[in-house]
Amino acid sequence: MNYTEVMVRYGELSTKGKNRKDFINRLSNNIQKVLYDFPDLEFHPRHDRMHIVLHGTPFEEVDERLSKVFGIQTYSPVVKCERTLEKIEETALEVMKATFKTGMTFKVNCRRSDHKFTYDTNEINQKVAAYLYENMDNLKAEMKHPDLVLRIEVRLDAIYISSVLIKGAGGMPVGTAGKAVMMLSGGIDSPVASYLALKRGIDIEMVHFFSPPYTSDKALSKAKELAGILANYSGKINFIAVPFSEIQETIKEKLPEGYLMTIQRRFMLHLADKVREKRGGLAIINGESVGQVASQTLESMVAINDVTATPVLRPVVTMDKTEIIDLAQKIGTFDLSIKPFEDCCTIFAPQRPKTKPHLDKARKYEAELDIDGLIDRAMAGIQVTPILPDQKFLQNKSAEDAELL
Ligand code: ATP
Ligand code: MG
Repeated sequence: MNYTEVMVRYGELSTKGKNRKDFINRLSNNIQKVLYDFPDLEFHPRHDRMHIVLHGTPFEEVDERLSKVFGIQTYSPVVKCERTLEKIEETALEVMKATFKTGMTFKVNCRRSDHKFTYDTNEINQKVAAYLYENMDNLKAEMKHPDLVLRIEVRLDAIYISSVLIKGAGGMPVGTAGKAVMMLSGGIDSPVASYLALKRGIDIEMVHFFSPPYTSDKALSKAKELAGILANYSGKINFIAVPFSEIQETIKEKLPEGYLMTIQRRFMLHLADKVREKRGGLAIINGESVGQVASQTLESMVAINDVTATPVLRPVVTMDKTEIIDLAQKIGTFDLSIKPFEDCCTIFAPQRPKTKPHLDKARKYEAELDIDGLIDRAMAGIQVTPILPDQKFLQNKSAEDAELL
């Protein structure tokens, strides 16, 4: 089927005034960003919907990308036709022939925004249905729950016909809720938390702690590749790598075993906050879930969160691991997340971390270190890499993979 356009209907952003304008502009920019490599497309954002003129680009290719853009409620591939009954009938037949399958029920559903058009909605419904019956076999109409709805929209400029309505990703356009830094590890939870933050319209930059030579280049590449999968939902994501070895070595050398994990996490959050400040973010996001591991008890959160007053958002905080895994599979990060590369936290993980650390002790131990020096040196070593959708960093050498498994 040669569709001429895609009609994009907005979701929750149907608010008023300046906000609405901002929503539409953001959404339009985000859509154009994810479709950057289709030069023939033409974009027309309007107040109630957006039209993407295809100029020969196959709808299927656009569909794949659009399905991941937040802020879209539904979208349809449509055929635009002239404002005559003959053209409506011809096009309706063409669209039906391409999408109707034997055994389906159907219904014609006309809407007019041009109320001066020669025929009213009932007349169009009836005339088009009659024309279809004349020209096709096995048709069965059903008004309440049809399998296929042939939508005919009569507008001032033209008529749009479609029989496909696709549910969009929902949520809010990325960027409408401001910017935050996301603490991205190579695990299962933080990519899911990233997805949920993007879905609510938060523009994120990834902060990733790495500890060479204890963690390998491959572990770093894996985290970058995860950011690439998430970039499908936002267009491009900056990945900020923060060197963490000196801090971990110092903590391990100087502090008691039971507090290694708590103090490491305090430094991570402290650094994430520094990066946030530098990059103009409003919040920090992580993938913590209550009770999942020792660092994620409420007592640990109290002892760790103490280093900053910046809001720390935890999108998966009350989700079960199985729920998080389901979502990880849905968004396409799970298979990569479970590849067994070392993480900086596991390398220096104490045998018996305190599950109920005391805030005053955490503060006291940490104060024995040169906090400012350690933080400044880590900040001096940060590297920012812009990452595009599905960008690859790991080589897919099966022998190497086999060795790791
Ligand atoms: P994940 O699956 O996201 O790795 P997890 O259950 O393994 O989570 P932890 O390793 O305890 O949990 O980490 C808790 C959170 O701390 C992570 O979700 C992430 O937000 C942050 N974090 C952990 N390691 C790193 C890292 N190397 N770089 C950036 N953030 C990290
Ligand atoms: Mg982890």
